[in-house]
Amino acid sequence: MKSRIGTLLANIAKRFSGLYSDSSSGKRALVHEILSIQVFSATLVGFLAIASLYWGGQWILQDNYSRWALQWTDQLNELGSPLYLAEDQEIRISLDNFVSRYPEIDQVVYYANDGSVLHAVDTEDDPDPVKVLSEDQLRDAIAVVGANEPYLMTGGFLDPRQFNILAPVWVESIPDDGLFGFDPINTEIETKTELLGFVNMKLDFVMFHDRLLSNIRTAVFILLGLLLLFAIYGRYALRKALASFADLQLPIQELAKGNLDVKFEPSQHREISDIVEALETTATALSERDAQLRELANHDSLTGLYNRRRFVEVLRSEVLEVMCKNRSSALFFIDLDQFKYINDACGHAAGDRLIRKVADELQRSIGRDDVIARFGGDEFAVLVRSVDVAGARAAAETILKNMRRMAHIEEEQLFHVHCSIGITMLSGTNLHHDELINQADIACREAKSAGRNRLSIFRLKKDGSKSATSDVSWMNCLRDALDNDKFEIRFQPINEIDSGETTHHELLIRIMGEDGKLISPDAFLPSAVRFGLMTEIDFWMIRHAAVAYAKYSTPENRLQFSINLSANAFENDDLTGYVQDTFEQHGVVASDIVFEITESLAVRRPLQVDRQIATLRDLGCKFALDDFGTGYSSFSYLQKLQFDYIKIDGTFVQDLPNNPVDQKMIRLIAEVGREAGMRTIAEYVRNVETLELLTELGVDMVQGFFVGRPTKVPKTKATPISLTARRQRLSRK
Ligand code: C2E
Ligand code: CA
Ligand code: CA
Repeated sequence: MKSRIGTLLANIAKRFSGLYSDSSSGKRALVHEILSIQVFSATLVGFLAIASLYWGGQWILQDNYSRWALQWTDQLNELGSPLYLAEDQEIRISLDNFVSRYPEIDQVVYYANDGSVLHAVDTEDDPDPVKVLSEDQLRDAIAVVGANEPYLMTGGFLDPRQFNILAPVWVESIPDDGLFGFDPINTEIETKTELLGFVNMKLDFVMFHDRLLSNIRTAVFILLGLLLLFAIYGRYALRKALASFADLQLPIQELAKGNLDVKFEPSQHREISDIVEALETTATALSERDAQLRELANHDSLTGLYNRRRFVEVLRSEVLEVMCKNRSSALFFIDLDQFKYINDACGHAAGDRLIRKVADELQRSIGRDDVIARFGGDEFAVLVRSVDVAGARAAAETILKNMRRMAHIEEEQLFHVHCSIGITMLSGTNLHHDELINQADIACREAKSAGRNRLSIFRLKKDGSKSATSDVSWMNCLRDALDNDKFEIRFQPINEIDSGETTHHELLIRIMGEDGKLISPDAFLPSAVRFGLMTEIDFWMIRHAAVAYAKYSTPENRLQFSINLSANAFENDDLTGYVQDTFEQHGVVASDIVFEITESLAVRRPLQVDRQIATLRDLGCKFALDDFGTGYSSFSYLQKLQFDYIKIDGTFVQDLPNNPVDQKMIRLIAEVGREAGMRTIAEYVRNVETLELLTELGVDMVQGFFVGRPTKVPKTKATPISLTARRQRLSRK
């Protein structure tokens, strides 16, 4: 039994403590806190209510007791008065009846006016001893005769439920003034008082009081029951009201974990609604900031494309895909050709504009699943998904074609910027992302070396070495070529369109590679510039051009050679002297030599360059403005420069039949050239359509694989193809 009570108590205690604390965290629960405040205040109010009920009840009862007592005193006074006149059994009976009617009356005693007991009525079950009135009681009772409150109330101090009332019994008589003299209107008639005795009444209201207490007890129980109900309902109502708060708990925890997509349930309560709104605003602000940070971390700020970091992530996951699904994808490394021109000539803002345009063009050129990124500067990377080598090649060719078509106008000048693309395949065991990027980069450099504006596919050499050659090894190679005469010259014919005759040859430098293949100047000239070997190379070419001239040019069949000169050659004050000496030595007629200088050099030519050009012109040499259109293509500027030939850059020519913009451009160059007294030469003529178009556009001379590839020995006869073109042209006329 004892143990059952023990567990019960323990349970109650647990429940009770559970009301105030969340056992798991040791923190108080809000519901319980509010509830405890409510229960406490309700208990206090209940206690006060019960107390006031008790005291109020007591007070009302007390008041009632005394009123009843006085009433009964009056009645006893009246009833008992005849006792003093005569001994009457009937009076006694009626007195007994009266007392028995009121159980609260314990005892009634009538005293004679000397204080002796005249008659006593007592309750039978609890008889009280009848006491004679004391002197003091007599005196006090006599004193109240005729007073407004003619009685003495004693006792009830220790127990308010039991007290005594002692009242004098007297009669009043009107003095005889003759019956007829009585005036009923005059109430102020003097009366005569005769004291008969006293009546003492002992009262006991214990029963009443007990009834009151039992009523209050019932009220307390009802109140306690109500309080319990109130607590239970309060807990339920509070829990319901605070449920929305509890509902917030989970989303807030999610929010704290960094999940910004959490959904907050709307609440019907204003306060919670406000909190929800504030939390939602916070979550939105956080996710916006997150997006900004992600954007910054993953994107290139200039173009909005992915940056290298993000691209590498994509590449890594593609590597996994390729591995799992056993397919292949391609990685392109793209580098812009001649981007530096625009940056140098028109400033960085112009360069930025161009990069953005190129980014857009590249984006348009790739497939929807493919991913493009800018690696910085003028370098881009593209991941072409799910392609084989042929597919990759086709994708790269699309990019090249679109880039060739792209024309960029800056400060009223037209720029063509092409690109070189290095490709490597993600397949088989070739799957390390760093290695892949490296391979594509190497392939891109190969594409540049092979003449730019083209693609190159990375292949591991048989011995496993990489195909790219570093700057340092180029330097050794160039040094060796200069010291041991390992350069070679190729002669590329330049034909007059009208006559179809080869009037000139451009002399192009090559190095014979170890494998017996010729290496293009695009592969080694950038290194030569970096290592300051350009002047030596140009001097080598001047010397060997003179030798070749002496060898192949005859008075009957005089050859004219075009020699490329770099900016570095002009920086050397010995240039003119060297040219003069060499030409004299080999019997070169200076007027058979054309020096090609690039547009960028011509535009920013310093005084020293101007002086050298003037001297060489004095010698009889001619000058051609090379690669016209790629750099600072200003027509107004063109007229100021004194050139004999303008060489329209190959980028305008190679896709001429498909590009109306290029056609317009070439027509314009030809016109301006004619007016300025310069002859125009178009490079990169690769088919008959181009040749025909150039003829129509008014170009004077052509160079290109269609006219003739660079050869070991200069040609002296007109090419049959140009004759065909001429025939077609004549037939059209
Ligand atoms: P460039 O002065 O614009 O020379 C023309 C380039 O276009 C040559 O490339 C030539 O082979 C190529 N080419 C001409 N027609 C066609 C065609 O129809 N199709 C294709 N695919 N290519 C064609 P190359 O020989 O590789 O020379 C590249 C550049 O190297 C030259 O561009 C020139 O700037 C420079 N270079 C070549 N030789 C010398 C040299 O002796 N001294 C200097 N300073 N630079 C040289
Ligand atoms: Ca040239
Ligand atoms: Ca050129």
